[in-house]
Amino acid sequence: MSAGPAGAPGVEMVSFGCRLNSLESEQMRRAALAAGLERTFIVNSCAVTGEAVREVDRVIGNGAKGAPETWATTRAALDFGLGAEEKVVVDDIMSVRETALHMVDGLDRHTRAFVQVQNGCDHRCTFCIIPFGRGNSRSVAMGEVVAQVRTLVETGHGEVVLTGVDLTSYGAGLPGAPTLGKLVRAILKHVPELKRLRLSSIDTVEADADLLRALAEEERLMPHLHLSLQSGDDLILKRMKRRHSRAEAVRLVGEMRRLRPDLVFGADLIAGFPTESEAQFRNTLDIVDACGLSFLHVFPYSPRPGTPAARMPQVAHEAVKARAQRLREKGDMALHRHLALAVGGQRSVLMESGGLGRTEHFTPVRVPHPAPRGTILPLRIAGHDGARLIAA
Ligand code: SF4
Repeated sequence: MSAGPAGAPGVEMVSFGCRLNSLESEQMRRAALAAGLERTFIVNSCAVTGEAVREVDRVIGNGAKGAPETWATTRAALDFGLGAEEKVVVDDIMSVRETALHMVDGLDRHTRAFVQVQNGCDHRCTFCIIPFGRGNSRSVAMGEVVAQVRTLVETGHGEVVLTGVDLTSYGAGLPGAPTLGKLVRAILKHVPELKRLRLSSIDTVEADADLLRALAEEERLMPHLHLSLQSGDDLILKRMKRRHSRAEAVRLVGEMRRLRPDLVFGADLIAGFPTESEAQFRNTLDIVDACGLSFLHVFPYSPRPGTPAARMPQVAHEAVKARAQRLREKGDMALHRHLALAVGGQRSVLMESGGLGRTEHFTPVRVPHPAPRGTILPLRIAGHDGARLIAA
């Protein structure tokens, strides 16, 4: 975090990392503004290097960054000059047990709201640094989530997305250990006016029976799931310390599709994990067809210092890049297939801004005629441009 150039008003955010970081950036910006900070740049990033610490005015840890009092003391510290010992404000994240309910309604107002119901992660995938930044898993109580969703619906949001670092581990530390499926069913039952509920991402081994039932029975739970697959090869999955096998992932996707035939799937996949051979990479390439995936998030593997995978024999950088490219091309074909299948049919489109909307499958749609944000329209799909559907 550092003071901005003279004359720059307000609080500017620079966000690195995942969608969760973007959501938290908005909360941090609001908290900093409320504390009276101005002419300030805040950099929200997953991890901070020793070099970066030297360049900035103050480093604030994950446990403290959402607390309004952090920003009030930061303002006071900046106003009166910081001592070296005050420059880094970082708790032991592994000792953090509580998570506040995060509600961000400013990113896509009157269309979609993101509610973070879980934070942290108890797993230790060998490539991942997240648990060291975000601590162990903790969840927001069901009653609080339901109340928050009700408020969001009352303020005009057509869709709510439940998010979390390890969303499918929701509830483990709460009294009665409710599951994500139970939470989903409670939200839909107690907020009947909510039109659309969506899940940000799920781990295939953690999909509980209630979640499967909700998918089968609840039309307002959107038929789009993003899976944390990472690889299609069993040995690489083991080396990643993932908890599912290829066969389990394929079986679960088939089971879900049987319960909800209009389901579409996206997935995170890593190309070029340490020790990955060409044959093992091809297993990842062809899990796209085996699971019938429509949307891919492709990550070329890059070592995170301090993780076990960073100490494994690495795949050459050029090969990692080439494999990521092949996987992306595969993803383009899968998306193309998904878009082509929609042409000629009708989709229910939640309008965003700028003539864009999203189907139940989260597929972007260009809508040639103006429509108010937040409305849901039944639209005929006339074509696509390779990235988006085009409504008639
Ligand atoms: S990849 Fe996901 S499940 Fe694995 S350690 Fe990271 S946050 Fe946890």
